[in-house]
Amino acid sequence: METRPRRERGILRREPVRFGRSVLGAPLDVWEPDRAASDLLVLAGTHGEEGEGVAVLSAALRSLPDGALACPVVLALNPDGLARGTRGNARGVDLNRNFPSPTWRPEPVYTRWTLADERDVELSPGAAPGSEPETAALLELIARVRPSLVLSLHAPLACVDDPAGTPLGAWLAEQGDLPRVGDVGYPTPGSLGTWGAEHEIAVVTYELPAASTDDLVRRHAPHLCAVLAGETPTR
Ligand SMILES: [Zn+2]
Repeated sequence: METRPRRERGILRREPVRFGRSVLGAPLDVWEPDRAASDLLVLAGTHGEEGEGVAVLSAALRSLPDGALACPVVLALNPDGLARGTRGNARGVDLNRNFPSPTWRPEPVYTRWTLADERDVELSPGAAPGSEPETAALLELIARVRPSLVLSLHAPLACVDDPAGTPLGAWLAEQGDLPRVGDVGYPTPGSLGTWGAEHEIAVVTYELPAASTDDLVRRHAPHLCAVLAGETPTR
């Protein structure tokens, strides 16, 4: 694929569609495909302290020439968390524990201050499954788009979590030089991946390694660009 010249990559050259609003009223935007619907949805920015995933996915999207986008793209599922630098949304909810799975638990969620620390930072899974506007909006978007596969960018665990064993997961692990794993090593009740598995939607979690945004864009944006162009296997 011929990518867009770099001088033209400074802005997003297509208009998104609004699919909801955050707790604080920020727009939840999806960039719709230029071509016929694909079975893949790509998203980033579920955790607000993982802005590098948003930057890498944005770089991939801005590298695409006109007419080449083959799947819907959500750059920032948690705009309030991204604006505030918090993992959770504006109510302190870890959105990746708020999906309406039977595994959802009402107990607090514990996360790490940094990767080297214990899990001792408390967040909420929400007042109820699917309680947060960001989660509810994504579920409505998924119901409309009906993907069979969701690719979700996170950081910094440096792996491709692909419990369904998809061709896309295998391809991404090879391209990104990351291990492909069947789980992230700890329970994730109420996560998008758990909910997806219950609804026959394979969720591939692309965990970027701990590195500078500059390094990550150089190393990972090119193959994510190929994913957005529909040039890769899916499932
Ligand atoms: Zn994350």
